[in-house]
Amino acid sequence: MGHRWRTAALTAVAAIWLVTSASSASAWCLFNCNYTKTKYPIVLAHGMAGFDELFGVYEYWFDIPDELEDGGARVFVTEVSQFNSTEARGEQLIEQVEQIVAITGKPKVNLIGHSHGGLDVRYVAAVRPDLVASVTSVGSPHKGADLADFLLENVEGGSFTQTVLGAFANLLGTVLGLISGSSNPQDAIAALGSLSTPGAAAFNAQYPQGVPASACGNGASSVNGVRYYSWSGTGILTNAFDVSDAAMGLTSLFYDEANDGLVGRCSSHLGSVIRDNYFHNHLDEVNQILGLVSIFESNPTSVFRSHANRLKNAGL
Ligand code: CA
Repeated sequence: MGHRWRTAALTAVAAIWLVTSASSASAWCLFNCNYTKTKYPIVLAHGMAGFDELFGVYEYWFDIPDELEDGGARVFVTEVSQFNSTEARGEQLIEQVEQIVAITGKPKVNLIGHSHGGLDVRYVAAVRPDLVASVTSVGSPHKGADLADFLLENVEGGSFTQTVLGAFANLLGTVLGLISGSSNPQDAIAALGSLSTPGAAAFNAQYPQGVPASACGNGASSVNGVRYYSWSGTGILTNAFDVSDAAMGLTSLFYDEANDGLVGRCSSHLGSVIRDNYFHNHLDEVNQILGLVSIFESNPTSVFRSHANRLKNAGL
């Protein structure tokens, strides 16, 4: 394991960001001030790195923590290794959840994971259900991602073949840049393994909580006292001003089913499926880039706020 990742692991706990206190947010709140005031803290767990490295982990969830806090939620943004297996990332996340429980005095948290983060939060809930009130995944490949399969098949000796390099030429480095940005290629390959179809199947066999038994149905809504939810999008080109839409357009070509550019509609299903076809692409789901999303669909921040209200009403 490279020095960078050892350092990342050691500093992971210190990297928990308490965004702001609910009391300071409420000073600005004029109405619906308790709309998102969940019983347990909300923990946002990021996906693969890349654009979060550019903007910082807090900004990975563009404007979302602020919107949630404005309605009374207490929100934490966690940070794990950008590229690694779900198990490695999940173990880092458990340490941070333990810290959040200690800081807040609340016995549990509501975990929300985007992309690979949705697998990480499942791992935490499976291993430590005592720490988790709910698990929500947003655009997570629970049955694997076709793009990960393609990339894994074209990895040779820790680097990508000409096939992959050709496919992603001139693409702002979006997807390939995410992978090559890792200082340790083996970590990136471990990450791809977790997101591949066989990797996801192996993970599901060991940690089946909330995973639909059918190809495209709902999963169990509650397992071991933990509630399970998911949502995702099937938009690709959603905002003409967002340069990342072109990348989503390219990566979407690897999929046979409707998808958000990186994750198939049915693969995103976990627990109670809230919706699987928002006109959001994979980056829109976390309100990127910089809030450039479709103006003809529910804003991602509204989707998160509604979900926090759903958790609140469920006594979570
Ligand atoms: Ca966008």
